Amino acid sequence: MTVFKPILTHSKLFSEVESDLYCPILEGCTVQELRTGEVVITPGVINRHIHLVLSGALTIHLGQQESPPVGQVGIGEIVGELSLIGHTVTSAWVVCAADSRLLVIDESRLWRLIDQSPLVARNLLQILTGWILAVDGHVLEQRKQIEMLQSLARIDALTGLFNRRWFDESLARMLALQHVAHPVTLILVDIDHFKKFNDTYGHPGGDQALRFLAKVLKSAVRLHDVAARYGGEEFALILPGTPLTSAVHVAERLRQAAMERPVETDDGQPLGAITISLGVAESIPHMTPEFLTRAADDKLYQAKREGRNRVCY
Ligand code: GH3
Ligand code: MG
Ligand code: MG
Repeated sequence: MTVFKPILTHSKLFSEVESDLYCPILEGCTVQELRTGEVVITPGVINRHIHLVLSGALTIHLGQQESPPVGQVGIGEIVGELSLIGHTVTSAWVVCAADSRLLVIDESRLWRLIDQSPLVARNLLQILTGWILAVDGHVLEQRKQIEMLQSLARIDALTGLFNRRWFDESLARMLALQHVAHPVTLILVDIDHFKKFNDTYGHPGGDQALRFLAKVLKSAVRLHDVAARYGGEEFALILPGTPLTSAVHVAERLRQAAMERPVETDDGQPLGAITISLGVAESIPHMTPEFLTRAADDKLYQAKREGRNRVCY
């Protein structure tokens, strides 16, 4: 064992531990010589040893052995302690990333080391804490990614408003929760002659108009309202607990705000102004989302028929 003393002295497990204490206990341990790609630990098995890397390196893989490694185990570091101490089956693949020599410490030797040295116990505790923190960080990272994907799934990329899917879900939810005395009102908005705007200012100019209108809509909504991009150049506002008369006022304010100033490019160059047509409808108890949408859409088409740039309800 004395030949490995320099490595053991610098290992995390034996940090600050007298070699006179651990060398006799480790006497008789097996030293495994493994080639690159050989498997040290397979998931799902009972583990009775820890492996301390004397030379080479190991990689840890979750799920498939071929999956990208989630961690590396270098010289002086150990693997297998989690399953051994936790009495659980192994949870990952551990594979040789290079030709490696491993000191195999069995369970009874590990407990003797712990019994005889509080420093070994402390070191092991630190190693295990490192794992917990790493796993915790991994979980946190995954949670962040899930939240980002969820937000992408409900947000329209061009305008930053909620998308059609979120609109459909919200309208159904709000109608199901509506109280007789507090109806849900729906405002559908459509840009007038938008094809012409695109033809005049190009598709990027049209996109600016959509962003501009989205800002106007956002500034009009309260915390519980939903402003969504309903389709290409059509938008929707769901106003829960808002009677028709109030919603018509909101719609009229939006109509005026939309035409008040021209759409601008990112660097402030004015393009043309847009006008919008709006249809407003109020729910009655047990109304389906389809019915309310149809009612608002009928009003929107009435506004178009009557000359555009107006609110119908
Ligand atoms: P109306 O007043 O009757 O609504 O006339 P319109 O020209 O606005 O109506 P129409 O539905 O015929 O045209 C809608 C146009 O909106 C056609 C399409 O090219 C444009 N459009 C849809 N989505 C986008 C988009 O994401 N970006 C841009 N720039 N244009 C879009
Ligand atoms: Mg349209
Ligand atoms: Mg239009």
